[in-house]
Amino acid sequence: MKNPKVFSYFGVNEDSKEWNDWLWQYAHRIKDVKTLASILPLSEKEKKDISLCLLSFRMAITPYFLSLIDPDDPNDPIRKQAIPSIEETETYPWEKADPLNEDKDSPVPFIVHRYPDRVLLLVTKCCATYCRHCTRRRLVGEEDAPINDEELDKALDYIRKNKQIRDVLISGGDPLTLLDEKIESIVKKVRAIEHVEIIRLGTRVPCTMPMRITDDLLNRLKKYHPLWINTHFNHPKELTKEACLALSKLADAGIPLGNQSVLLKGINDSPEIIKELCLALVKARVRPYYLYQCDLSQGLNHFRTDVRLGIEIVKKLQGNITGFAVPKFVIDSPGGGGKVPINPEYIISLDDNKVVFKNYEDKIFEYPQPQQKK
Ligand SMILES: *Cc1c(COP(=O)(O)O)cnc(C)c1O
Repeated sequence: MKNPKVFSYFGVNEDSKEWNDWLWQYAHRIKDVKTLASILPLSEKEKKDISLCLLSFRMAITPYFLSLIDPDDPNDPIRKQAIPSIEETETYPWEKADPLNEDKDSPVPFIVHRYPDRVLLLVTKCCATYCRHCTRRRLVGEEDAPINDEELDKALDYIRKNKQIRDVLISGGDPLTLLDEKIESIVKKVRAIEHVEIIRLGTRVPCTMPMRITDDLLNRLKKYHPLWINTHFNHPKELTKEACLALSKLADAGIPLGNQSVLLKGINDSPEIIKELCLALVKARVRPYYLYQCDLSQGLNHFRTDVRLGIEIVKKLQGNITGFAVPKFVIDSPGGGGKVPINPEYIISLDDNKVVFKNYEDKIFEYPQPQQKK
């Protein structure tokens, strides 16, 4: 059930043209405490805490995403992802503004080149909703202009000159907060580079502003295949009928869909929730791709879970549910070594003769190595 107060505040309903128009949703994002408090009951302390937080980090929540929050549940998983808490103002010595050292791996502005064959192209700092757990919170939320033509041309020059780049991941911020023409012009220019084999878009709009996935956008995007999209759902509650419709439209446009989740304390930190999420994702035609350990960005300590939980979750899923419904649990190496899968241990011993391993039920098996005939 969506919170009726969101609708009465804006004087719309679920069928209104405005509500279903992404530009309306984007323009009416809730960005200040006063507006938030007139929709969602907040205590004086909460109001004060949020204001304090907003001195360091921005807030923006689409009316759609806000409407999914149960106003009576202080632990609502969407509330915790969208509404600032005072814990964000706490910082610890191990936290960094740029924990993955992306700035170091940036040979030209707007490009992060860490792996041999692929780059990130960061085209905007804006998102439909600012996740409280954002790893790139050092950048996002600055309401400045997206990449301009001159900057884009410089970034594309870098890709053009580096022929080993065969995969360009367009991200941000959220590239699908840009206007259709702008998105198409970026994708088209990337596609024109001969050695670029695949293009990926990283976007959370299917989750936070699903009405963004319009027929117009899809008709533009599907001209530039092979184009993949990775999205970001963290909790089964986010897979509403609107989100599922957006995902099925993307899939119908021939775009393979992956999902990147972050393990977040108090939000999705249990094997049961992640299992429900992954099964709901494959039903919505999305392949669970990564399950991230929370990064060491500033103010995220309260979201971090024990690393053993991620391992346990994958161990519980593997073998028990559809193989491709199981995400890879990864830690993005602090300091910038890239994403590393952190797996449950299946191998008991391995030598020239055989491997001894256990299966998902902890039963033990052996497999002989190939042997030379004597
Ligand atoms: C995550 C990431 C990629 C893409 O990595 P995949 O494992 O191929 O999904 C590329 N570049 C950077 C800097 C990244 O952080």
